[in-house]
Amino acid sequence: MKASAIIVAAGSGRRLGHDLPKAFVTLGGHPMLYYPLRALASVKDVSEAVIALPAGTQSAARSLIESAGLDIPVKLTPGGAERQDSVRIALEIVSAESDVVIVHDAARPFATPSIFAACIRTAYAAGAAIAAIPVTDTLKQVDRNAIVATAPRTGLYQAQTPQAFRREILIRAHREAVRDGIAATDDAELVERLGERVEIVEGSPLNFKITTSDDLALAQALIASHLPS
Ligand code: C5P
Repeated sequence: MKASAIIVAAGSGRRLGHDLPKAFVTLGGHPMLYYPLRALASVKDVSEAVIALPAGTQSAARSLIESAGLDIPVKLTPGGAERQDSVRIALEIVSAESDVVIVHDAARPFATPSIFAACIRTAYAAGAAIAAIPVTDTLKQVDRNAIVATAPRTGLYQAQTPQAFRREILIRAHREAVRDGIAATDDAELVERLGERVEIVEGSPLNFKITTSDDLALAQALIASHLPS
């Protein structure tokens, strides 16, 4: 079984309040993109990576690939306007020999090799699998700053990345999304609308997405405490 990894790293640092693109903001002495590359280096079924990048960052990305010890062929491409566009553009240059494609946000530096491996294994067997964690807080629906309902949280999960799919399923999902004008915030949603089964594998609360400066501060503290392996 062969897997290709797509790392989407082409977002801006706008919500983070940074001039640098988010994937190149420093975290624990390395640009954020270093961490998923280092995790991938320990996932044995991944035989190539495709990274969607902001303009002008290709040579910086090449040195990160080297320092992370990612010793597989890596293709670099400019990303698109939205995350979904970046995935679609990267998917176009994924090797036709890959059985599975695993998509991951550069903005989630704490995804472990074992989460990647579990997603790949489950997607190969079941067609599609994403990392997710059960919702533990009580969910409130709010209108104009006041609660209008309490939503039952039974069976609700927070979707994370990595998300892995048999290659032909993900290609079909993106093709049909373009045809139907669908915009989604993750790839699983595009696959769900095909009626395909998407399984859940256990993610981690530490595998959070760095969006705000508070998230970045939390990530810095975690790295300083050596908590993530
Ligand atoms: O903006 P947000 O953090 O939700 O984006 C999730 C991931 O998608 C990030 O790793 C970001 O770099 C990537 N992205 C991208 N191309 C875009 C927008 C976001 O590759 N146009």
